Amino acid sequence: MSGVITLAHGAGGQETKELIDRVFLRALGNDYLSEAEDAAVIALGKFAVSTDGFIVAPPIFKGGDIGKLAVAGSCNDVAMRGAKPKFLTASFIIEEGVSFELLETIVASFAAELAKNEAKLVAADTKVTPRNQAGGGLYISTTAFGEVKLEGLAARNLKEGDYIIASGTCGDHGAAIFAAREEIAFEGDLKSDCASLWGLVSRLIDAKAPIVCMRDATRGGLAAVTNEWASAADVAITLQEAAIGVKNEVKGACELLGFEPYALANEGMMIAAVRGEAAALEALNVMRSDALGKNAAVIGFVGGDRRGRVILQTPHKTSRFLDAPSGELLPRIC
Ligand code: MG
Repeated sequence: MSGVITLAHGAGGQETKELIDRVFLRALGNDYLSEAEDAAVIALGKFAVSTDGFIVAPPIFKGGDIGKLAVAGSCNDVAMRGAKPKFLTASFIIEEGVSFELLETIVASFAAELAKNEAKLVAADTKVTPRNQAGGGLYISTTAFGEVKLEGLAARNLKEGDYIIASGTCGDHGAAIFAAREEIAFEGDLKSDCASLWGLVSRLIDAKAPIVCMRDATRGGLAAVTNEWASAADVAITLQEAAIGVKNEVKGACELLGFEPYALANEGMMIAAVRGEAAALEALNVMRSDALGKNAAVIGFVGGDRRGRVILQTPHKTSRFLDAPSGELLPRIC
């Protein structure tokens, strides 16, 4: 479709119907949505639920776009509780003047990522805001419902002797967004790792890995996740810097800009805690058998002499605290 979104597309009349039929139902239609009632009726058992808002700028970046991110982000959060993403609800806030071309690209990408998760959009809403009043462009809020396949995953259960595994390299998404926004040309190919993690998680569950907890390293990256865990269970976490993967191009960007790569966001990388060394090595092999886990590594363990803190051991045999990030590192990262 050519043209742009106008306020009339948000007014609830003929143009709204056109927008929904031509853009949304065409890409995302299913039995739930085509009922066109005020609410979807779904049968739920034991489900994990997570909601998130997405405001990333620019809306299209290397490795993904806001549509893919809005699905992967919420689906990953339920996956981290051992749940298979099944249903999604979404709210699209569109600024007047956004082109149909952009919107259709984003919605197609949203639909493709939903299909990867084998999940269905069961309820959705669109609103149009006047130009220059919503910060620009397109916002999407999603809520994912995932069927719990493995119960009891929780950071409060961490204890000494648990091993910490990262499924990939740190900071890929944050560095890619920064480069896209600032139009800085970096050496190499900075690309977001934006991806849905359920496939990787289901392999771990199928392999009966003794997982204690999992979290996707999104805003605040590895530093945020491990600090949250250390305080949730009141344990020390020790990380070995030499084992933590950071791509050369991400390292380069961080050095140039003064960022800590461990505090930069990922959108397709998870941290898992596994009980016992043998089980951790087994879980590592399972992860590496999946394309999203090919760079997986055991990066540390639960233990150390400062409860509630994360200790980073450097390759030079010194150590420092890895603190939770503070301040505004990078606005509109996800
Ligand atoms: Mg999360």
